[in-house]
Amino acid sequence: MPRTVRYERLRPDELRAELARCPVCYIPFGPIEWHGPQSAMGLDALNAETIALRSAELYGGVVLPTLFVGTESERDEATLAKLGFEDPSIHVVGMDFPKNSVKSLYYREETLRLLLRDTARLLLQNGYKLLVFVNAHGASNQLRALSELQLEFDHTLRGAKVLLATPIASADPSLGGGHATAGETSLLLHQHPDLVDLGQLPPMEEPLYVRDYGMADGEYFMGTAGAPFTVLDDPRTKTSAARGQADTDAEIQCLRALVDAEKKKLGIA
Ligand SMILES: [Zn+2]
Repeated sequence: MPRTVRYERLRPDELRAELARCPVCYIPFGPIEWHGPQSAMGLDALNAETIALRSAELYGGVVLPTLFVGTESERDEATLAKLGFEDPSIHVVGMDFPKNSVKSLYYREETLRLLLRDTARLLLQNGYKLLVFVNAHGASNQLRALSELQLEFDHTLRGAKVLLATPIASADPSLGGGHATAGETSLLLHQHPDLVDLGQLPPMEEPLYVRDYGMADGEYFMGTAGAPFTVLDDPRTKTSAARGQADTDAEIQCLRALVDAEKKKLGIA
């Protein structure tokens, strides 16, 4: 086990020693994105970072500094209607709803692709056999871009593997693809207690409308919830550090299963 698993804090001799022991490098990434008034905007990337750091500490490998880059796309009218917008012809990108006080930093999809490809190229030059890009952002265009990139890597690489992993929704169905609701707020509360302030939310007697707070349960995206379009997994009552810890652990185990399968295929188990 190296002194630290953080790539940028290791000297060349230490990097070489860990590379010889376990040729795995994790690269956490995700956008700076609105996650409700109660949570820091780096939530997704910070979540990916926690999972990557703990995985490397437990099972070997090193972790590149987190790339705060992710993408989102324009919402169509059907989706905006499902989220409870009365005028679904408005222009909305990702979770940047009209009443949010700060805009997200969504990069264009092509920027994300270039950055991931180039990062992989540089790390592979250094001899890593397994690169694990850890994604914790569930935007549909981000997931589509990642699955296309996965195919590209799989068909062009020999003797090494680039894994684009999203260990979130599959890790815990209770997160259900929800955005900024109690599930994600709990993750951040467990991982970085100082980055959550539930006092930023209105008092309980005020309804928490999806369209007003930029939070949404998976049910709204899927169209299985409807009026009155208030947040179901209400962060004011359902956030807890214990829940965040259980979900974080589930994410780590989900990632571990994916990584172990690849290590076995590469013969570096
Ligand atoms: Zn998120």
